[in-house]
Amino acid sequence: METHAIEISNLHKRYGRLEVLKGISLTANQGDVISIIGGSGSGKSTFLRCINFLETPSEGSIRIHGEEIAVRREKTGSLVPADRRQLQRIRSQLGMVFQSFNLWPHMTVLQNVIEVPTQVLGLSRDQATATAEELLRRVGLFEKRGVYPAFLSGGQQQRAAIARALAIQPLVTLFDEPTSALDPELVGEVLSVIRDLAREKRTMILVTHEMAFAREVSTHVVFLHKGLIAEQGTPAEIFGSPRCEPLQKFISSIR
Ligand code: ADP
Ligand code: MG
Repeated sequence: METHAIEISNLHKRYGRLEVLKGISLTANQGDVISIIGGSGSGKSTFLRCINFLETPSEGSIRIHGEEIAVRREKTGSLVPADRRQLQRIRSQLGMVFQSFNLWPHMTVLQNVIEVPTQVLGLSRDQATATAEELLRRVGLFEKRGVYPAFLSGGQQQRAAIARALAIQPLVTLFDEPTSALDPELVGEVLSVIRDLAREKRTMILVTHEMAFAREVSTHVVFLHKGLIAEQGTPAEIFGSPRCEPLQKFISSIR
């Protein structure tokens, strides 16, 4: 039996009395590109952040490459990681790219990319630099490797953030609206990098508002609505013949 890259079962998340996620189950296999779509506030970011425990779920389980993340229940009711070392190991298999880039401002592009490989994963500086330079070439930023983030455009910063996410050689990369903070003319260069990653069959979960792009690169599309997966399927099914009314409305609202 194939081991799933990610297997999420019955994920719930409550903020006080607000239940944002009401039982989400999702499986990603190696090479899957899963796009998550849904209205603003539907829980897309919360879901993504629960996968690597940037948020603590209220219920449910998460397995990365077959290994379940150990949790214990806090007094607040949240499930928190029970084993810091396991969490660190599992996080090192998950790349994450945020809407707001989140590069470390006091480090150059190259330093941003080698920081986790050298400080957390124990790679030598030379090894990490060689990998980082190759990644920076691929995202078109080799010439900018010595520059601080403040001197880069948004598109360049996001491409650097993607190189940083890939530098840990993740099993799965999570993208949370990677282009929505960008000026329109800079969106294309970032999508083009992600498109190349999809072609290489890297496993990715991508929250996006770029519907044409989601349709083009995804193997699978998931529509979140009111804390649940209201519909999922191939891009052709989801965009070509949406079945439920909320999805029909959502798709016509963004055209
Ligand atoms: P999306 O990414 O789909 O726009 P989010 O996951 O950011 O949605 O948010 C889902 C819901 O959870 C929203 O109603 C939001 O206000 C709420 N929420 C998100 N983070 C918190 C938080 N830290 N505390 C309280 N409510 C939150
Ligand atoms: Mg969000």
